[in-house]
Amino acid sequence: MIAFQDVHKYYGDYHALRGITATIKAGEFFSLLGPSGCGKTTLLRTIAGFEGISSGAVMIDGKNMAGVPANQRPTNMVFQSYAIFPHLTVGENVGFGLRRAGLSKAELAARVEEALAMVGLGGYGARAAHALSGGQRQRVALARALILKPKVLLLDEPLSALDKKMREQMQVELIRLQRQVGITFILVTHDQEEALVMSDRIAVMFEGEIAQLADPETLYRRPNSRRVAEFIGTMNFLPAQVISEADGKIEVEAKGFGRATLDAEQAPGAHSGEGPAVGFRPETLTILFEGQTSTDRETTALIEEVVYYGDMTYYDVKLDGTDRAVRISMRNVFGRPVLEIGTRTRVAWSPGALVLFR
Ligand code: ATP
Repeated sequence: MIAFQDVHKYYGDYHALRGITATIKAGEFFSLLGPSGCGKTTLLRTIAGFEGISSGAVMIDGKNMAGVPANQRPTNMVFQSYAIFPHLTVGENVGFGLRRAGLSKAELAARVEEALAMVGLGGYGARAAHALSGGQRQRVALARALILKPKVLLLDEPLSALDKKMREQMQVELIRLQRQVGITFILVTHDQEEALVMSDRIAVMFEGEIAQLADPETLYRRPNSRRVAEFIGTMNFLPAQVISEADGKIEVEAKGFGRATLDAEQAPGAHSGEGPAVGFRPETLTILFEGQTSTDRETTALIEEVVYYGDMTYYDVKLDGTDRAVRISMRNVFGRPVLEIGTRTRVAWSPGALVLFR
């Protein structure tokens, strides 16, 4: 549906996009994820045609978009700041882009109602737009974009102004909506959780480049660099040494764990020159309570910090033989005590959950 071919963008001397090459499939929910200033909004705007590019090509549906103005592209954009007209009704806001499309009054009203129903605002057409809540405004903005039946819907941090509960609800609704209408959604977000929840695939961007493009599970389980690993969720690192490498197996010696054999796919990244380390997510280690056994490998550790979250507890523990604490997350079980700082404990771990960075 969309192809970026070695796209570069300069703002004066500032190199905002540094050779973006990627394709986005039709019907996909695709996210651009990265910290503030990495260029994700700029990249989104190059699709919409709000931003020209310095070199390379942006293709939509096989056509080079060079010189094609925004209003002639099969895209529509929903902004963070909804840009609702407060003096119009909800229905007039939603129908705004169709007012010159030559539809009869009845046709227009039907299209408006159809779009409102899609976003869960059926029957709201006559309401005053200024009286809506933040979540409702966001829905109106969505309906206003959807009514034009774009092939691609571009969403620039559309949920960032909503509170946490509302945001989570809208995330689920957006996914459902996308499945229902089947058009390509491209979301810009700096919120890694939001990207993981919503996307079929995610491009993680740093400093104008795509660092990794993959589905959420691959990004989470097999990040290709420490930077991606740390941007998406929490990743613990322990210094390691590669002992040998042959036949798709890598033998490592990791501080705190000892020897472990990894599959080649557990080392998804290129050499970064930072020196080897193994990484693992907090939930892949298990604290073994009194009398518990595990089929995984075992080590011992000292609990240095306890953070209680209700459903979860985070334990920061120093594995024996290491000098920096790592974080373990444990789902709390009713009736089982939360361990205290200073407790010595056994910890189960699995070589299959490790990722090698080097
Ligand atoms: P945020 O989440 O903060 O919006 P972003 O990843 O979307 O960040 P962009 O808005 O794409 O980042 O901006 C990328 C870089 O380009 C930033 O350093 C920004 O300051 C710069 N930039 C963006 N627009 C312009 C402009 N019109 N003129 C000059 N520099 C710009």
